[in-house]
Amino acid sequence: MRPLAYARVSTVAEAVEIVAADPAGAFLAGGTTEIDLVRLGVARPDLLVDINDLPLHDIEDLPGGGVRIGALARMSEVARTPVIAGRYPGVAQALLLGASQQLRNMASMGGNLCQRTRCAYFRDGVSPCNKREPGSGCSALDGLNRGHAVLGTSEHCIATHPSDVAVALVAFDAVVHTAGPGGARRIPIDDFYLPPGDTPDRENPLRHGELITAIDLPPAGIAERSVYLKFRDRQSYEFALVSVCAAVRVEDGLVTEARLALGGVGTKPWRSRLAERRLLGAPATAESYAAAAAYELSAAVPRRHNTFKVELAQRAIVRGLTQAARGGMR
Ligand SMILES: Cc1cc2nc3c(=O)[nH]c(=O)nc-3n(C[C@H](O)[C@H](O)[C@H](O)COP(=O)(O)OP(=O)(O)OC[C@H]3O[C@@H](n4cnc5c(N)ncnc54)[C@H](O)[C@@H]3O)c2cc1C
Ligand code: SF4
Repeated sequence: MRPLAYARVSTVAEAVEIVAADPAGAFLAGGTTEIDLVRLGVARPDLLVDINDLPLHDIEDLPGGGVRIGALARMSEVARTPVIAGRYPGVAQALLLGASQQLRNMASMGGNLCQRTRCAYFRDGVSPCNKREPGSGCSALDGLNRGHAVLGTSEHCIATHPSDVAVALVAFDAVVHTAGPGGARRIPIDDFYLPPGDTPDRENPLRHGELITAIDLPPAGIAERSVYLKFRDRQSYEFALVSVCAAVRVEDGLVTEARLALGGVGTKPWRSRLAERRLLGAPATAESYAAAAAYELSAAVPRRHNTFKVELAQRAIVRGLTQAARGGMR
């Protein structure tokens, strides 16, 4: 048996100091992922620092129409907050389509962003897996890779990032605030997720002991008509095979602004900038949406069991954009 110490802290400075001082220390928020990984032997902390007493639970308006979400705000609470549901319905919907009601009541926003992949080889604790044990190989490349990524992959890792809400946050240029041993940082969320390259064990730029304190959603009028659609093997309590967050502004029949991000197909929450650029000035029609979707997926590298994701993602994009152009979730 391995000993595991537990500490509860009441200030951000204390949390950072204690974890930074212990190379095997880790933060504990809702525990819905961390405890599973400890039980599986995939995470091996010797100290869990419980951060639930920190004053990071609030959801506040920012000047100009943005919103600041505390890192400890719970998924369910964020989804039902009127400013989120009203100004960023795609974010609210992404939260509501994730996990289960019980999990959403426990799971924090900071923990959601830091959750690890659901790749079965990563989580079984024994298969070769470069993410869990750098240099050991990737069992998914020639293994069961139906749920794996087709965009942003490398020969070292093809795992998807499982978060739903991160996809919507990427679409609206959220900014992650942190406090760490080196001070405070603001990290644009698209930079928060690192592609696997040859270091798939490094998933984000957080340094050891660096704590997420808040997530800012900047003002974005287009987000008020956003949608989040999730396609999966069963309709609840399941991770996405493909998901799409879409928002589109149409004037005189032409697309003047578009936001698009994908889940379930990329090694990180996938901002679809190629498609966004292709849509600008195009007629707001299913044909334009399909052309933009094909353009975005042209870089896809499917494997033996996940070829279907390319077509599914293209169809999801068309449906998402069509629904967004009609007025979103309303
Ligand atoms: C059965 C099941 C189904 C799920 N389905 C979905 C789904 O469909 N969609 C989806 O998006 N998610 C899903 N999830 C994941 C769930 O959303 C996450 O488990 C949850 O959001 C993690 O939050 P937490 O507060 O419990 O984090 P914890 O488990 O406490 O922590 C997770 C990780 O984040 C770190 N951490 C926590 N807070 C911070 C912080 N503030 N700063 C820095 N590091 C921090 C911890 O050290 C740990 O490494 C599912 C989970 C389960 C168990
Ligand atoms: S896809 Fe990534 S997480 Fe899965 S086995 Fe390969 S290296 Fe590990």
